Amino acid sequence: MTDATDAVTTPTPRRKPKPEITTIGGRPLKPSTLMMGHGYDPALSEGSLKAPIFLTSTFAFENAAAGKRHFEGITGKRPGGAEGLVYSRFNGPNQEILEDRLSIWDGAEDALSFSSGMTAITVMMLAYCNAGDVIVHSGPLYAATEGFVAKVLSKFGITYVDFPAGATREEMDAVLAKAKSQADEHGGKVAMIYLESPANPTNALVDVEAMSAARDAAFDADGPPIAIDNTFLGPLWQRPLDQGADIVVYSLTKYVGGHSDLVAGSIAGAKKWMDPVRALRNTMGGICDPNTAWMLLRSLETVELRMQRAGENAAKVCAFLRDHPKVEGLGYLGFISDPRQQDIYNRHCLGAGSTFSLFIKGGEAEAFRFLDSMTIAKLAVSLGGTETLASLPAAMTHLSVPDERKAQLGITDNLVRISIGIEDPDDLIADFDQALAKV
Ligand SMILES: *Cc1c(COP(=O)(O)O)cnc(C)c1O
Repeated sequence: MTDATDAVTTPTPRRKPKPEITTIGGRPLKPSTLMMGHGYDPALSEGSLKAPIFLTSTFAFENAAAGKRHFEGITGKRPGGAEGLVYSRFNGPNQEILEDRLSIWDGAEDALSFSSGMTAITVMMLAYCNAGDVIVHSGPLYAATEGFVAKVLSKFGITYVDFPAGATREEMDAVLAKAKSQADEHGGKVAMIYLESPANPTNALVDVEAMSAARDAAFDADGPPIAIDNTFLGPLWQRPLDQGADIVVYSLTKYVGGHSDLVAGSIAGAKKWMDPVRALRNTMGGICDPNTAWMLLRSLETVELRMQRAGENAAKVCAFLRDHPKVEGLGYLGFISDPRQQDIYNRHCLGAGSTFSLFIKGGEAEAFRFLDSMTIAKLAVSLGGTETLASLPAAMTHLSVPDERKAQLGITDNLVRISIGIEDPDDLIADFDQALAKV
């Protein structure tokens, strides 16, 4: 029998979570099943079925020796990293559950969450690059990523070499050779190969398998990691770690968050690729906050349902738009005309997504009339939410891009960017139909 005094003076040791069950009879459980409970043990939180939001800046040590052990792990004095939770700039229960569940979707060993997609990208690049180093990247990239590489990293003596998303193996070999000699010149190394596929707003796909082979041919075992921004098709329609990428990058703001109500980001991959980034995140901050992590746990329970529905809706809407007399063309991964791009799609993609370019016959005036006539679709940038969004890149997100570069990228005044949501597909088609009639 313990009495009240015993309970105060003899603290019960911290309970460990129960072991995770990820297979039944040798059969691995699917991500959609694991999203409901993986990484969380209700017994550790008063039986609460759902994880509470842990609003705390710091975590109490069991005793002084445990405190020392934690800091030996954090500072690298003891191998193996931190044991348990110490301080909320490093990690927290909600973020740990989120990171465990994000890893599952991409088949990754480890994942890190961030306060935005751009925080994930910038902390990762800073973790890998020293002065003199070179980043090789596909183009075009998300504008803020391109700007960070060209305008911010350059301040620290880090340069880049870029290549068009649709490049062949031969072109990749040439770009890696150029990057190596540039790095030699600057007394650095090729620090990272950074891809974005499909590219925005062209939807051009990068051959990740070819880049992985080109990297292996050009470098010894300690070659640069290949990171890829998988925001447009992940986690459902593309799993780049399967094609030889090392790090998968997300703006969770888009399909994963999926409700246009949060901003967050993540990276995932083998622990050895995550460790340097985790160390810099510990120093700089930038981890996702507990409330946002909790919202993302809710989002992950339905991410497959939402993306499946959005993908089906996009296929129906695009089938309607394809032959419409007011439509000049479609940039949709379901209707690829280039055989090389189709080949990459067949090897890399599990679905065409729900974000595409719609070319309206005419110019900006016709595109504006179309956008202003839409009733269900909201006029906003971003993508991957439950609601359908439409925007005009040339006049909005890409307004400051020089005309010559815009022409090179095929960003014309009549290119409308569409992200299809999970509304009723026939309602969406009726809306596109009446808006096109007004053009
Ligand atoms: C939105 C987006 C980002 C940036 O993510 P934030 O969460 O807005 O910081 C990066 N890459 C792609 C492809 C995106 O669409």
